[in-house]
Amino acid sequence: PLKTIAVVGLGTMGTGITEVLARAGREVIGIDVSEAQAARSVAALETSTARAVARGRLTEQERADILGRIRTGTDLTAAADADLVIEVVPESYDIKHQVFRELDGIVRPGTILATGTNALSVTRLAADSARPERVLGLHFFNPAPAMKLVEVVSSVLTAPGAVAAVTDLAIELGKEPVAVGDRPGFVADGLLFGYLNQAAAMYEAKYASREDIDAAMRLGCGLPMGPLALLDLIGIDTARTVLEAMYAESRDRLHAPAPILKQLSEAGLTGRKSGRGFYTYEAPGSAGVVRDALTPLDGAAAIPGRTV
Ligand code: NAD
Repeated sequence: PLKTIAVVGLGTMGTGITEVLARAGREVIGIDVSEAQAARSVAALETSTARAVARGRLTEQERADILGRIRTGTDLTAAADADLVIEVVPESYDIKHQVFRELDGIVRPGTILATGTNALSVTRLAADSARPERVLGLHFFNPAPAMKLVEVVSSVLTAPGAVAAVTDLAIELGKEPVAVGDRPGFVADGLLFGYLNQAAAMYEAKYASREDIDAAMRLGCGLPMGPLALLDLIGIDTARTVLEAMYAESRDRLHAPAPILKQLSEAGLTGRKSGRGFYTYEAPGSAGVVRDALTPLDGAAAIPGRTV
């Protein structure tokens, strides 16, 4: 049973995963290189659990218990007690290798090391570790407390027992685990980002307007949101980075980022968060689309003053 769990990297994913674990009764050791980031993560956990109390989803006592199960710090040796370590440091082999190498010398031989990577090779991380059979991928989705899916990623080196233990944990966390092999993006992102990239390329080729591409997928495929609106929500810079990482691994042209993703991110038009991406929003962070705004890349914008 995986009772004590270390989360290394207390950014977006690490903070969300820490909340999920502590809510499910796990003792969590949260570690970040940055003291300021560890403090921000604790503040975020205090805020989100306070919100849960305000909504009647937690009692004050439960909230206190949850927060009491979380210890944070900047010293990786605090992971020594962990039965499982979940690494959610930035998406870079250099950083992840370094963390895994250090952890190998800190944690017990039986401890499972899980990587939260989106697109790096779990196999490569495992092969470089002193415990290749106890390295696997544990891919949560953002925001971790809300999203049901967890992909449990095996490499050819992974021991079935390690997969089973982590899968059981995911179920106990209230998640729906799926077992997947090691390929860039795994199942969900592997399919999603190829699709989003194709939608961006279709728009870039002026094959259809952004509104029509999105409407086609909403109305014809029953999706809650069209691909260009979803790219704006994910962040065009983030999507570009994910695709670049996937392409570096897969060399599949479906993952070669459409040039427009590079142009928009370099221009700072990163989507909702900046107030403008494929669509223009009422304000940075707002979901409200300014209906008549055109981006310079819209076919219809080629003629000055034309309206849609
Ligand atoms: P983030 O930048 O928000 O957080 C990373 C954290 O790691 C930062 O707080 C940073 O200070 C810390 N860090 C850096 N080096 C460290 C080290 N050596 N030791 C300890 N901490 C260190 O990143 P994120 O969005 O949380 O992503 C983390 C991982 O999760 C990446 O591999 C990413 O691909 C993956 N992922 C992200 C998402 C997402 O939507 N954000 C979803 C699924 C998976």
